[in-house]
Amino acid sequence: MFSDKEEFKQAFTSKIETELGKTIETATEFDSYRALGALVKDRISENWLNTERYYKENKTKQVYYFSMEFLMGRLLGNNLLNMEILSLVDEGLKDLGLSLSELEEEENDPGLGNGGLGRLAACFLDSLASLELAGHGYGMRYKYGMFDQRIIDGEQVELPDYWLSKDFIWEVRRPEDSIDVKFGGYVYSDKDANGKLNFKYKDYEQVSAVPYDVPVVGYNNETVNTLRLWSAEPTAEDTLARAENEKEFGHFLNHKRSLESISEFLYPDDSNEEGKRLRLKQEYFLVSAGVQSVVRSFEALELPWSSFPDQVALHINDTHPALVIPELMRILMDEKGIGWEEAWDITQSSVSYTNHTTLSEALESWPVEMVRSLLPRIFMIIDEINERFCQELWRTYPGDFDRIADLAIVADGQVKMAHLSIVGSHSVNGVARLHTEILKKREMKRFYDTFPERFNNKTNGITHRRWLMHANQPLASAITEAIGDKWIEQPKLLNNLLDKKDDLAFLDRLDDIKQKNKRDLADWVHQTQGIAVDPNSIFDVHIKRLHGYKRQLLNALHIMHLYNELKSHPTMDMVPRTFFFGAKAASSYYFAKKVIQLINRIAHVINNDPDVNDKMKVVFLPNYSVSIAERVIPASNVSEQISTASKEASGTGNMKFMMNGAVTVGTMDGANVEIHELVGDDNIYTFGLSSDEVLEYYRNGGYSSKQIYDQDERVRHTLDQLIHYSPFSKGETQFQDIYDALVHHNDEYFVLKDFADYILAQKRISQDFEKKRQWNLKSLINIAQSGKFSSDRTIQEYASDIWKIQKVRTLK
Ligand SMILES: *Cc1c(COP(=O)(O)O)cnc(C)c1O
Repeated sequence: MFSDKEEFKQAFTSKIETELGKTIETATEFDSYRALGALVKDRISENWLNTERYYKENKTKQVYYFSMEFLMGRLLGNNLLNMEILSLVDEGLKDLGLSLSELEEEENDPGLGNGGLGRLAACFLDSLASLELAGHGYGMRYKYGMFDQRIIDGEQVELPDYWLSKDFIWEVRRPEDSIDVKFGGYVYSDKDANGKLNFKYKDYEQVSAVPYDVPVVGYNNETVNTLRLWSAEPTAEDTLARAENEKEFGHFLNHKRSLESISEFLYPDDSNEEGKRLRLKQEYFLVSAGVQSVVRSFEALELPWSSFPDQVALHINDTHPALVIPELMRILMDEKGIGWEEAWDITQSSVSYTNHTTLSEALESWPVEMVRSLLPRIFMIIDEINERFCQELWRTYPGDFDRIADLAIVADGQVKMAHLSIVGSHSVNGVARLHTEILKKREMKRFYDTFPERFNNKTNGITHRRWLMHANQPLASAITEAIGDKWIEQPKLLNNLLDKKDDLAFLDRLDDIKQKNKRDLADWVHQTQGIAVDPNSIFDVHIKRLHGYKRQLLNALHIMHLYNELKSHPTMDMVPRTFFFGAKAASSYYFAKKVIQLINRIAHVINNDPDVNDKMKVVFLPNYSVSIAERVIPASNVSEQISTASKEASGTGNMKFMMNGAVTVGTMDGANVEIHELVGDDNIYTFGLSSDEVLEYYRNGGYSSKQIYDQDERVRHTLDQLIHYSPFSKGETQFQDIYDALVHHNDEYFVLKDFADYILAQKRISQDFEKKRQWNLKSLINIAQSGKFSSDRTIQEYASDIWKIQKVRTLK
C-alpha cells in the first residue's frame, strides 16, 4: 500500500518487476496500465471483502439491479478518482515519465450496452456505492459488446467488438458460485406421499452460469459493491455425459458453442423490440442465474421466507429481466415448497420495475409458443398469474371485457412483458416527470386506474463524479475554488455558483476552461480524422443513438439549409459553427443508416467547399461510446436535445451537457422540461410542438407534411436537394427514402413541422453566442442548476421510496 507519491512510485516500480518481470524502461504502456491496475485492485480487495462481510453479518437489506445492459465506460480513472488517489498517481507517473491519461487509453471501453438505459445502470452503481448503499448490478458478460462502428465511404460499417482481446483486469471469475440454468424439455408433475404436487423436468438442456465479479468502488468511503456479470458455459456433468455418448468430438464442440452463444453478443438494438429466440434465452439466463444466486445468499442467513422482502429488493431495468417474477415464484413454490399465495406476496413485495419508453415498437412481447417451448414451467406460472389477475379484474370490474382484454398478460398469442412487470411488482416508475405523467394519463392509464399506488416518478440522473469531476477536471477545480468542495458530497450545492453571476473573473475562467477543452477536442479531431476545426466556432453537438424520434435528420436538414443560405449570400454574417455528430444505428435499422449516410455526405460537401469553410464544418465522430462522450461533452457549447416531444422518456445526455456548461437547444420533452424549469427561458432554447400537441396529432390526425413542403420554400428547396441534382445527391437516388418518408409518408416524427421553429431557435443561439459575457452567464446558470441531475439524488429517491434501504457504514 502507499500513502504518498514516493511510496506509490516505489510500489508501482516493484509491481512492474514482480508482476511482469520487466523494468520501467522495458515496460510497454499496456504493461504499465496492467501494473497500475493490479496495484489499484490490491487496494480495493480489502474493502471489497469487508463490505461483503459487513452486509452479511449485519443482515443488511440488499438491492439487486437486474439489467441486460451495463455501459460502464473505462474503470481505471474512475476507480482512482473514487479512491481519492488520482492526483497522487498522476503526479507519481509523471515523475516516472508516464502519463496517466495515456495509460487510461490502454483500457478497452467495455461496451456492454446500447445507450441511455445501460449507461443509467452504470451511473446508478456508482451512486449506490458512493452513498454507502448495499446495491449490486446483475448483468451479462457478453463476449462481444456494442459493435465497433467505422465509417467507410460515408456509410456505417459494423465490426465485432471483441473487448476481451486485452484482459479485462477488473473482473474476478468465481466458478464456485456457478448456477445451473435449464431450458426446454418437458414438465410433468406427480404427487408425493403427502399428496403434494411436485414438478419435474425431463429432456431439458442445462447451462452453467459462471459469474465474473467486478468491484464497484464508492467515492471517498470504504464501500465496494459488486457488479456480477454472468457467462454461459457447458456444465461439467454435461461435458462428461456427452464425451461418453458422442463419439464425434465435432458434435461436442457444436454443442459447447451453442451453449456459449447465450452470452456471446449484445443485441445491438435500441428502442426496438428484438424478437429473437436467442434473446429470450439470454433474458432467462440472466434472470434464473441471478435469482437463484440471490436465494442462495438469502438462505445462508437462516431467516424465515416471510422476511425475504426485508432482505432483498429485485429491481428490473425495463422489462428485459421481467422473468424474475415467474422465476422467483418457481423457486419458492417448486423448490422451497411454499404455497402460491405466500410466494406471490413475497415476489410482489420484492420486485420493482422501471419503465423506459412508451414507444410501442419497443414494448416487449414474446409469442406464447416460444415461451412455452423454451421455458415450459415458467410459462405455466405466467399463465396462472394471468388467470388469477384476470379473475381479480373480473371481480372489481364485472362485465368489463374491454378492460380485461386490454390488461391481460397473455393475449393474442403473446406474453406482454410490461403487463407482467406491472402486475408482479409493487412499484412502477417512469424516468422523468413528463414521462411518468404520460404513462399515468395515456399509455398505461388503465393500469394506473387499477393500481394507482404503484406508479411513481424517478427522474434520471448521471454521476457527477465521472461526468464532471473526471471528464472535466479543470471545471471541477474551478468550482471547488469558487464555492468550496461540499458540492462533491451534495451536488445540489452547485447552486452556490449562482453567487458568482456578477463575478467577471469567474465567468472568464469558465470561458477559458471551455476554450481549452475545445482546443483539445479540435486537436484530437485533427489527429484522428484530419479535419481542421476552428476552436472559436460554436461547438454544436448531437451525440446519441441514431433513431427517427431523436431527429438527427432535423439537425442535418438545418445544416443543409444554412449551407444554401451561405452559398446564395456569400457575404452573409454568420457566427462560425462546428457541428458534431456521433451516433450508432442498429444494424437492422435501414432508415437510421440512411441518415448516417446523409450526415457524412453533408460533412463531405461542406468540409470541402472553400466558400463556406471559415463559417461551418461538420464532423461525424465514429464509434460513439462512453469514452468519446467524456471527450466531447466538456468541449461543447450547444447541446442538441431535439426529440419529437413525448418520445424521449428522459434522456441523460442532456444532463451531462448541462453539467459541463453547454446550453440546450431542445424540445419540451423528457427531462428537458425539468432543465427548462430550473434554468428559465433565458438559459435554454426551446422550440417546437409540445407533447400534448404531438399526442393529439397521433390520436386525431390533422398533420400534413406535404402541405408544409408545398408552402415553405426553404423546406422544399432543401428536400429537393435530396433527390434532384445537387451537391448532396450528386444526381443519385440514395436519399430517396428519406425524402419519401418526409413528404409522402407524412413525416412520422414531425421534422418538417418543427423545422421553421428550429431555424429560429438556432438563429437566437448564434446571436447570443456573440454576447460573450451573457453566454458565459447562461453556461454558469446551467452548471449551477445541474445538481438536481446527479444520480445521487435519483438513487436516494429509489432507496427511500422503492427499495426501503438506508445508508450503512462499512466498518473495518
Ligand atoms: C449518456 C449516453 C447515452 C444516452 O444519451 P441520450 O442523449 O440521453 O440518448 C448514450 N450513449 C452513451 C455512450 C452515453 O454516454
